[in-house]
Amino acid sequence: MLYEIRTYGDNCLNVKCEKVEEITEEIKNILEDMVETMHEATGVGLAAPQVGINKRFFVLDVGDKVIRKIINPEILEMSEEYTESDEGCLSVPGIYKKVKRAARIKVKYQNKDGEEVEEEMTGFLAKAFQHEYDHLEGKLFIERISPVSRKIISKKLHLIKKETEKKLKK
Ligand SMILES: [Zn+2]
Repeated sequence: MLYEIRTYGDNCLNVKCEKVEEITEEIKNILEDMVETMHEATGVGLAAPQVGINKRFFVLDVGDKVIRKIINPEILEMSEEYTESDEGCLSVPGIYKKVKRAARIKVKYQNKDGEEVEEEMTGFLAKAFQHEYDHLEGKLFIERISPVSRKIISKKLHLIKKETEKKLKK
């Protein structure tokens, strides 16, 4: 099943999400549908709040042949060294701006079978993980861009918000 992706202006994107207490069959099905939705939208990651669920999980497929289903993630360590590159988000369509992210992170999460996984991530994977993790904290990448960039995109953001409000009224 494909989800409708929630967009900027939808309140479910600004909420701190709740921990998953038990990985039920329902959650496993949602994760499968999220992978399908992410691929359909040609995204590299999709977080639960983006499909209207304020729980702490997301999916990632950064093209390294592993589809990650990440539940209750924690970022244990972040390098002081950072990288800066263009970022976009399925919930903020058409906007790409530079964001600074830690170059290396060490993370812990549960996979769909409830097993605890620890992983060190670098490069694009590290960046995508941090982006999705932000979603669980109710934060969008546009809150991390420079004030100048923010000003440049303000009109576009306003239009997205208006579209979102129209959708929500239906
Ligand atoms: Zn996003």
